Amino acid sequence: MMNRNGMVTKIRTRIRTDPFKNIYDLVGRELGRGKFAVVKKCVEKTTGKEHAAKFLKKRRKGQDCRGDILNEIAVLESADMSPYVVALHEVYETTTEIILVLECFGESVPISDGGYENSAAGGEIFTQCVADNDEAFTEKDVIRLAKQILMGVACLHQNNIVHLDLKPQNILLTSAQPLGDIRIVDFGLSRRVDSVSEVREILGTPEYVAPEVLDYEPISTATDMWSIGVLTYVMLTGESPFLGEEKQETFLNISQVNVDYSQDVFHGVSDLAVDFIQSLLIKNPRKRATVDQCLTHPWLSLDLHHLSLEAPLDEQDTSQSESEPESPIPSTDLVLMPSYPTCPGQGELKSGRDTFSFTEPFPSRTEIQQELIC
Ligand code: ADP
Ligand code: MG
Repeated sequence: MMNRNGMVTKIRTRIRTDPFKNIYDLVGRELGRGKFAVVKKCVEKTTGKEHAAKFLKKRRKGQDCRGDILNEIAVLESADMSPYVVALHEVYETTTEIILVLECFGESVPISDGGYENSAAGGEIFTQCVADNDEAFTEKDVIRLAKQILMGVACLHQNNIVHLDLKPQNILLTSAQPLGDIRIVDFGLSRRVDSVSEVREILGTPEYVAPEVLDYEPISTATDMWSIGVLTYVMLTGESPFLGEEKQETFLNISQVNVDYSQDVFHGVSDLAVDFIQSLLIKNPRKRATVDQCLTHPWLSLDLHHLSLEAPLDEQDTSQSESEPESPIPSTDLVLMPSYPTCPGQGELKSGRDTFSFTEPFPSRTEIQQELIC
């Protein structure tokens, strides 16, 4: 069952109404928090297994949002075959909330007073995107993680689902050191795009939204591909490509596709990586690379053997290309790789030398127009 806006409300999961606290103990600090949800670690009393409980209020700003939550559950169900999408274990409902019991990232280690502390393991890729030096991703890391993100997104797109909120806070790592695998979380804005009527909505997070969202044009799977372009840029450079001083400037940068691909920013990063991002940050959604095209992009099979595994991007010497006789292979004469199996059985970021925050809620269409007109 799907409504006009691409929301799916028919779910398979049985919603439990017995008390959540009879089955689970909450442990440790909060794992995270978004615009509408608080996520806490919990332990299943009988098994001792750890999970993440996402608490969602059924009413937000005086409006009944139960349908949005059912949509989130339905999307999680339809992507349950992908190893790169967070697994949904159970759902509970109280008079005011719905609780999603999810696979958990970020290990808890018992602390001396008998409680639990969340260790640094796992968590958002955001942490590493903004980290300096020894904790930042290498290009080799980014290639591996980008492949996984693409495989997760391919599974969604094959099911005609668009995520619509792909950003570093919604991509989690199973472990930070050694660097584990990714899981896509937060399907709160996701929609089905196979509806007869087009999905046209203003949603997302300013820095990561595609131009068609700002122009109030139809949303499609290509909308996610734009965000993957922005995400890859941030993972490789630690900088947000469109972020301006003011929201208005950010929107203008997006609609003009004003991106800095200079060596200042892409210091020590391969040309193929830049080519990959350029195939995504294209204003016309029909001209943007699809997820399957991205999965066969030569950047993903680039042998970065010559790049030190330990050296983070910030520290790599750009002169290394002199000792490397082969310049990066031009994308035109490359053998395409076979497709990967995709469906098997709030903080601060650097902008150049400045820091900025992107905790602002997404503005309304009128606000954008006003801001763009001003
Ligand atoms: P919102 O819809 O409010 O943005 P999210 O699903 O993105 O909610 O969750 C908010 C934050 O909680 C995430 O950015 C992440 O830091 C953390 N989080 C979400 N799911 C999990 C999980 N399964 N394990 C660990 N942390 C999580
Ligand atoms: Mg989120």
